[in-house]
This record gives sequence, structure tokens and C-alpha cells, in this order.
Amino acid sequence: MIIRKLFKFEGAHIVRNCTSVRCRENIHGHSYIVEVFLTSDKLDNGYMVTDFARLAKIKQVIDAFDHSYILWDQEDAEFKDFVYKYNKRIVEIPVSPSAEGFALLFLKISDSIINKMERVNGEGNVKISSVRVHETATGYAEAFIDDLKMADFEISDVHYSDAILEEWRD
Ligand SMILES: [Zn+2]
Repeated sequence: MIIRKLFKFEGAHIVRNCTSVRCRENIHGHSYIVEVFLTSDKLDNGYMVTDFARLAKIKQVIDAFDHSYILWDQEDAEFKDFVYKYNKRIVEIPVSPSAEGFALLFLKISDSIINKMERVNGEGNVKISSVRVHETATGYAEAFIDDLKMADFEISDVHYSDAILEEWRD
């Protein structure tokens, strides 16, 4: 059994080192769609893999990226200073903010959240199976659990700006 929850965010980035000049040399944005796929070996008491309401933490993390500049931590200092000087909502991430990078990042974060989730309603072994990130209407990247071996970063390497953290405190 597989279930899927869709999340959305509007984000800005530059993807350095990519082939397309438009993409690597210009700040631009996308209307991202993130699909999180979950599996289980057993249905809960409500005959569900898990209630979507239980994915609130994943929703909260993805919402941090909404109307944010997503900054690759390998950008040079001058550019980082500019971003932090003229923006309030910034998520600084340890992978390039390509659709592939986002898919790996959200997979790692979602996997960690789900693995820590308490079983409260007779759920089985609920697992993330993949995370799909659509950057445009025509293209997406999908990261599977096996791909986590490509994720040479820690969740603690993701940094949220004060404006985002303040919103979380509220
Ligand atoms: Zn782009």
C-alpha cells in the first residue's frame, strides 16, 4: 500500500554549475510541488497507512521554504552577504537547490520525522518510500530511500533564518 501527500511552495534559487546559463547565473523562482510517498505493511485502526494530519511536521518544514530564498551553503561570501542583507526568509542548505537536491533533502528530513513518529492508532511499519519534487509543470526529480546514500549531509546542516524561526515560535 502506498499513499501520497502533496505540498507546495514558492521558492527562489540559483543552481550553480548547471548546464543552463539562465539557471546558473540568475536568481529566479519556481512554484514547487512536493509529493511525499509513504508505505506500510499494515493499516491503522481507521484503515489508513497513516492519517495525513500526522504529517504536520513535514508540512511545516516545507512551508519554511515558501517565499524564501534557498541558498546553497557553498555560495561565495559576498553573495551570501547580499542575500542575508536584502531578504528575511532564507533557508541555507548543504546541497545545491536543484530539484534533485530538494528531493534528497526533503526525503532525508521526512524520513527522519516519520521514523520518530509515535504509533498512536495501530499503525504498522510506516516508511517514506520516496519524495518527488516538481520544479516546473513538465519536470520532476524523485529520490528513493536507496538514494539516501548520495546524501552526504546532515539535517542539522540546514539553517533557517530568524524570520522563519520566529514564525515557528508563534
Ligand atoms: Zn530554477
